[in-house]
Amino acid sequence: MRTIGFIGLGHMGGPMAANLVKAGHRVLGHDIVPELLAAAVDAGVAAPGSATATAAAADVVITMLPAGRQVLGLYADEGLLAAARPGTLFVDCSTIDVADARAAHAAAVAAGMRALDAPVSGGVVGAEAATLTFMAGGGAAEFAEAEPLLAAMGKKAVHCGGEGAGQAAKICNNMILGISMIAVSEAFVLGESLGLSHQALFDVASTASGQCWALTSNCPVPGPVPGSPANRDYRPGFAAPLMAKDLGLAARAARAGGVHTELGLRAAELYADFAADSGATEDFSGIIRAIRDASQKG
Ligand code: NAD
Repeated sequence: MRTIGFIGLGHMGGPMAANLVKAGHRVLGHDIVPELLAAAVDAGVAAPGSATATAAAADVVITMLPAGRQVLGLYADEGLLAAARPGTLFVDCSTIDVADARAAHAAAVAAGMRALDAPVSGGVVGAEAATLTFMAGGGAAEFAEAEPLLAAMGKKAVHCGGEGAGQAAKICNNMILGISMIAVSEAFVLGESLGLSHQALFDVASTASGQCWALTSNCPVPGPVPGSPANRDYRPGFAAPLMAKDLGLAARAARAGGVHTELGLRAAELYADFAADSGATEDFSGIIRAIRDASQKG
């Protein structure tokens, strides 16, 4: 049986580690928040007491951390790579900057380890239900080795290319999502001003060329899609600060590469403003309220 070290047992990492336990793996875990570690222990995760002790005893180390700073910090400054056995596979599932993902990969390889970036889509609900989608970057052999573990935590894993390709796929996908949610929200607010009912616009656009996930699964107005966050006062779902973070990563990558992503950059600004204000604890589809407010002011 393989031993999995899981570091970062928060909203996503906690249920992901629990699903690995349910699938029959031996899982060791660590988090700097004692309550989260205790909850993971309740779910069957063993706690060796530190991140380095976790890595030292593992065949595969999975990280699910807030940002690149924590990933690179743990790998290097906190001694994770130095503590692990040579050849250990490091799988980072956090959403981080593409450049940071490549730096983490290079640091792992320089330390005699193997690495994969494997960020996820599907949110906390997907983490709990083991229905996440993984987007992986790294070697084919590393992906093949990680696949059974990813299958225990998700329903789909796509090998997107070499190191950083998983992160690249994640931020490109979320740039589409962020922009399309703004487009759908602007259309509903324009429709309101023209006397068009939400249901009528939904019935047309959901079966016409305006169809997209932001409309048909995460509809920003209550009614047409009963399960969407708009029906529960915009409780997430996918929280606006996380969308702001992902679009910030996309904006940085676009600037670094000299790519003209005009709508992506504008969407990043709009979500950053929304997340810093009324959207701090809301689903990202709550941006429709900011658009409506701005329209009434204008
Ligand atoms: P979270 O803040 O709930 O979890 C991160 C955990 O890492 C925390 O529990 C924190 O204590 C721990 N941590 C930080 N530094 C550490 C260290 N040095 N050693 C050990 N533990 C440490 O965040 P989350 O919502 O679980 O998200 C994790 C990652 O997944 C992020 O990169 C996020 O962008 C991405 N993501 C989140 C969602 C979502 O819906 N929450 C969806 C897709 C992707």
